[in-house]
Amino acid sequence: MPLFYDTHAHLDYPDFADELPQIIARAEAAGIVKIISIATDLRSSERAVKLAEQFPNVFAAVGWHPSDALQAPDDLRPALRDLARHPKVVALGETGLDYHHLPSKQPGSAPEDDARFKRKQAELFRQHLEVAAVTGLNCVIHQRDSLEDTLALLTPFAERVRGVFHCFTNDASAMQRIVALGSLVSFTGVVAFKNAQTVRDAAAATPLDKLMLETDAPFLAPMPYRGKRCEPAYVKEISETVARTKGCTLEELSAATCATAHNFFRKLR
Ligand SMILES: [Zn+2]
Ligand SMILES: [Zn+2]
Repeated sequence: MPLFYDTHAHLDYPDFADELPQIIARAEAAGIVKIISIATDLRSSERAVKLAEQFPNVFAAVGWHPSDALQAPDDLRPALRDLARHPKVVALGETGLDYHHLPSKQPGSAPEDDARFKRKQAELFRQHLEVAAVTGLNCVIHQRDSLEDTLALLTPFAERVRGVFHCFTNDASAMQRIVALGSLVSFTGVVAFKNAQTVRDAAAATPLDKLMLETDAPFLAPMPYRGKRCEPAYVKEISETVARTKGCTLEELSAATCATAHNFFRKLR
């Protein structure tokens, strides 16, 4: 059976609560033998580290999600540096910029709220990049409706830090700019959605050694589970779509994506 990793799941979410041993067992039975639990704030980072301590094939990324940037402390770096020392913390993130849900879309907010939110997101993203640079880890990047600003912030760090643009839904030319910076893209179940031809075209164009697979569980279940709670076992369906899209075998995709993950998340073992 070709083996795959789920390089981006939120195992600490309440959706999975008491069921984690079964969820991890189902993943293993489907050939998904490593899972990286991605954090969204400091408490979530601590939970991800605990899960990594509890389950041998679970690893953690520590960070603060851009959508929750306003709740973040002014300086996240000392906490991130401490967490990053843990042997099973394999990356910083998720971090990045998300301009999809701006305050101005909510009633009663002022235009300057958007600017303040974007500034705080940028500051937080920069802090993750700085800690990544000093710890030698890479960054799991969340980017939504913010490609230009995200690339602009990453570029000065590109010699020292690589990013994986997770849940990649942009087009092939965006992928090429990301790869040119030394970074990677990863694909979720979105790649199998009927209306996602652009994403499939981008996957087809991505060099086999520049991509990884992920579920973003509990979100974004692939076909035929769309609309249900997503779980790491579904990387199997995602791998089938990506292999078909790229015209490669599952064995080739398995070998390439696992090697890429080990190279990117250097403490993964
Ligand atoms: Zn994300
Ligand atoms: Zn996520």
